[in-house]
Amino acid sequence: MNHFEYRDGRLFAEEVPVADIVRRWGTPTYVYSAATFRRHFEAFDSAFAGLTHMVCYSVKANSNIHILKLLGDMGAGVDIVSGGELYRALQAGIPGEKIVFSGVAKTAEEIAAALKANILMFNVESLDELRAIDAEAGRMGLKARVSLRINPDVDPKTHPYISTGMKKNKFGLDMDTALTGYALARDLPNVDPVGIDCHIGSQLTTLEPFLEALDKVLGFYRKLLEMGIYVGYLDLGGGLGITYNEEEPPHPSAFGAALGERLKDLPLTLILEPGRVICGNAGILVFRTVYTKQTPVKKFVIVDAAMNDLVRPSLYGSYHRIEEVEKHNRPVESVDVVGGICESTDFLARDRELPGVEPGEHLAAFSAGAYGMTMSSQYNTRRRAAEILVDGAEARCIRRRETYADLIAAEIDTEG
Ligand SMILES: *Cc1c(COP(=O)(O)O)cnc(C)c1O
Repeated sequence: MNHFEYRDGRLFAEEVPVADIVRRWGTPTYVYSAATFRRHFEAFDSAFAGLTHMVCYSVKANSNIHILKLLGDMGAGVDIVSGGELYRALQAGIPGEKIVFSGVAKTAEEIAAALKANILMFNVESLDELRAIDAEAGRMGLKARVSLRINPDVDPKTHPYISTGMKKNKFGLDMDTALTGYALARDLPNVDPVGIDCHIGSQLTTLEPFLEALDKVLGFYRKLLEMGIYVGYLDLGGGLGITYNEEEPPHPSAFGAALGERLKDLPLTLILEPGRVICGNAGILVFRTVYTKQTPVKKFVIVDAAMNDLVRPSLYGSYHRIEEVEKHNRPVESVDVVGGICESTDFLARDRELPGVEPGEHLAAFSAGAYGMTMSSQYNTRRRAAEILVDGAEARCIRRRETYADLIAAEIDTEG
C-alpha cells in the first residue's frame, strides 16, 4: 500500500494533486510520499519486534538527506557503501553507532573517515580489506569492529545483475576463506570481529533463498563458536522485493516470523539492511509528453524524462507501471515510452498498453522511489530531476532541479 491514488481521475500524492506539483516545479520530477516511507519503515521494523534487532536502511536505494533524516527520526540506522554515503548519513544526523559500512572497494581514506565517525562496524569483503582496516585503525590508535561478509552461494532467483550471494559474484568471502578471515581477525591487533554479515541480492520475491542463506550462516556461526570466536551481530543484509507489476513478495511480517523462528533463542542482535522495500513504492517519477510519433511499425510517446533519470528499464529491463497524471479515458494503444537520449536503450516502457496521450500531457512512472534518483546521471548533459517530498497536504522541494551552471561547475572550478 502507498499513498499515490486517483481521485476523480486525478493522481494525488497524499493530499496533493500531482498536477499542482508539476505546475510549480516542472518536470521531470520525483515525487515522494512521507507517509509511505513512514509506514514501510514501521511495518518492517515492527516485523522484528520479537528479536533484538536494528534496521539499517540501505542508503544507496534513495539517499536524499531529507529522506535519511525522516527515517533517522524514526530510529533507523543506515547501511552505507561509500565515503559519500557516510558523509550524507552524518549530515542527516545519523549517529555513527547506527552505521554499518558494506562494499568491496573501501579505500584507506573511506576507512579512516568511518573510523573517525566511530561507526558500528565494517562489513568486510576481502582479506586485503581486513588488513587495510587493521592498518588504518592501528595508525589512528583505534580498534575497528568488523563483520566478515559471507558469500553463502545461494541463488536468490532474481535478475542476474542484482544477485550478490552466488559463487561467481564479486561480493563477500566463500565460507572457507571466511574461516581463515576470522582467524586472521582474531590475531590482528586493531580489529575486533563482532559479527557475521551476508547479503544475497535484491528484489527477492520468496523467502526460501533468505532462509537457505540463514541456515548456512548459522552453520558458520557454530563453527566460529568452536573456534572460540563469539560474535554478537548477525547482519542479513537487504533484498526483500516489492510489487512493480504482478510480483507477490512476502510481507515483512512473514519475513520477520520466519527469521524469528530460527533466531529467537540465540544471543544475537539481528541487523537488516532494507532499501527497496522501504522506498520503492514511496516515489513516482513524473514527466511530460513532448511529442508522439507513429512509425510504420510502432508508436512512440516521447517524454522529457529519460534513461538518465530512471535507468532501471534500460539496465535491467525493469517494469514500471506508467499512467496518466490526469485520466482522459481515451482508447488504449500499444506504445513505447522513450526519452530524448541518443541511445536505443533509452526507454521507460516498451510495447505498453497506454491510453492515447497528447503532447503537453503528464505521465507518472510508479514504484520509482528506489534506485531511481540515486542511479540518475547527467548523460547528454541533462540536468538531474527535482525531488519533491509530500507530507499530508504539504509539498516541499528536497532537491532543486540542477541548473546548466551546475552541470559545468566542476569544469570551471577545477581545483575545487
Ligand atoms: C543494495 C544493498 C542493500 C539493499 O538492498 P535492497 O534490495 O534495496 O533491500 C543492502 N545491503 C547491501 C550490502 C547492499 O549492497
